[in-house]
Amino acid sequence: MSEFIPVLTQKEIAKRVVEVADAISTDYRDRDLILIGILKGAFVFLADLIRHISIPVKVDFMCASSYGRSTSSSGRVKIIKDVDLDLKNKDVVIVEDIVDTGITLTHLVAHLKSSGAASVRICALIDKQERRQTEIVADYVCHSVEKGFLVGYGLDYAEFHRNLPEVYHLKL
Ligand code: 5GP
Ligand code: MG
Repeated sequence: MSEFIPVLTQKEIAKRVVEVADAISTDYRDRDLILIGILKGAFVFLADLIRHISIPVKVDFMCASSYGRSTSSSGRVKIIKDVDLDLKNKDVVIVEDIVDTGITLTHLVAHLKSSGAASVRICALIDKQERRQTEIVADYVCHSVEKGFLVGYGLDYAEFHRNLPEVYHLKL
């Protein structure tokens, strides 16, 4: 039987979402902000975050798939869906569910910078530093979690459990 160990409650998540949305709203006032949600895991987080942002903001999505991690130290990331909006001279904040090794975000930041964005920052629901393999640092982090495979609040295991309103450590 798999076990779901509570990691973040709805209340804890909601509190940090508001705080981070406030910080972004302050930092990007009078700027041209575009939030880019990374599908699929970040969709719940982004939906909550954006409703607490109090400045003009546009939203777009990207989808990336990572592969080769177990055989290659650098990893490889394939962009399955790119942004539709023009990023030229815009200030971009990537909204990601989890920063784990950091390989995905390293590639996405480089890609978005090459698309002409004026600046690219990272907002993550969860920072898991234990397995970090890159220099990447998230600029806005809601929660730091030491380890474990997490599900809920958009995070899946084999596409299930995204609908759970809290975050759990899934022990298989
Ligand atoms: P990395 O930082 O290793 O390139 O990859 C991060 C991605 O791996 C995240 O966007 C997320 O999709 C996935 N990931 C990493 N850790 C977890 C986890 O604990 N649970 C789930 N569901 N996905 C994870
Ligand atoms: Mg992801």
